[in-house]
Amino acid sequence: MMKDILSDRVKLIDSSGIRKVFALAAKLENPINFSIGQPDFDVPDALKNEAIEAIRRGDNKYTQTAGDEVLREKIIEQVKGEFGWERAGVLVTSGVSGGLLLAFMAVINPGDEVIIPDPYFVIYKHVINMLGGVCVFVDSYPDFDLPVEKIAEAVTEKTKMIIVNSPSNPTGAVYREDRLKSLAKIAKEKDVLVLSDEIYEKFCYDGSCPSIASYYKKTLLLRGFGKAYAMTGWRLGYAAADECLKELIEEMIKIQQYTFVCAPSPLQKAATAALDYDISGLVSAYKEKRDIVYYGLKDKFEMVKPEGAFYAFVKSPVGISATEFVDKVIARNVLVIPGKVFSERDTHFRISYTTNDERIKQGVEILCSLV
Ligand code: PMP
Repeated sequence: MMKDILSDRVKLIDSSGIRKVFALAAKLENPINFSIGQPDFDVPDALKNEAIEAIRRGDNKYTQTAGDEVLREKIIEQVKGEFGWERAGVLVTSGVSGGLLLAFMAVINPGDEVIIPDPYFVIYKHVINMLGGVCVFVDSYPDFDLPVEKIAEAVTEKTKMIIVNSPSNPTGAVYREDRLKSLAKIAKEKDVLVLSDEIYEKFCYDGSCPSIASYYKKTLLLRGFGKAYAMTGWRLGYAAADECLKELIEEMIKIQQYTFVCAPSPLQKAATAALDYDISGLVSAYKEKRDIVYYGLKDKFEMVKPEGAFYAFVKSPVGISATEFVDKVIARNVLVIPGKVFSERDTHFRISYTTNDERIKQGVEILCSLV
């Protein structure tokens, strides 16, 4: 029986929320798709060509476990300029998801606590549970700002890590410098590692996107290529940290050696070129999409203006759970994700505004008609 061959671990993973939306989606014809967390533009031609040339040239074998040397050196230079890390530890990962798995495996023992602002990106919860860690969710409703005071109260002897994700999936929140500095102070006092997931760092619409790595040395930085250059399927990201966390990076490399082995090698060549590729035009286009969503919905729905990423996290109308409201929305051929996939609450839904402006306007109109 299947039941007998499966580990207890897999029972700790629940993917029913998203699966339900995908099952419903499969039945819809040409829906307005606000469910997918990836850009609607394609990989820029210049970067495609870099990958194609690398394949033709024969860069198809394994790279070093830690990544292509040229790419690593470039990342080391970049984080030195940004954070003053003299000789950063850098590891090229198979997407940010790959980096998250390696980081959690290298840090979490069964029973260890990880503090996570709620709402949160889904992977954290399920992978931490799978490893026997304990997620300590800290509520950030209703404004979704970094809940520094509540995080301070949540720290215990067992706290191993605090996760910061700015710009945030699913809320689009961008944490400001003063909040990050306050958190850095607390993390330092309590001597806790911070994991900063900055996969959306380029998608920042109202000013800059500060990193907690600027204020706290014990920050494990995770960044990615998938979202910024529309290469989510290329599975590329990196982990970087100051010398004081070199041991952690070394252990992550060790685990990568026996799991992913290395990130896709010809694509790492394109990633090197991507680091110099300017996507500010695309980001401006996404800012316009953010505005269509926010100004289109704000008078009918309770919502915070998202300042980054490409998500809006919107409160469902009074008197109905978010799950029920999402069913109504999907029945009108608009796909959104119920907030409880990303939260311990069932009050909001997530819109991913990664489709063309016309479709976004139609989707906004349909949502408004349901209130
Ligand atoms: N972190 C966050 C916050 C994300 O939203 C995502 C992708 N949805 C990831 C990590 C994983 O990204 P990747 O595709 O690079 O594994």
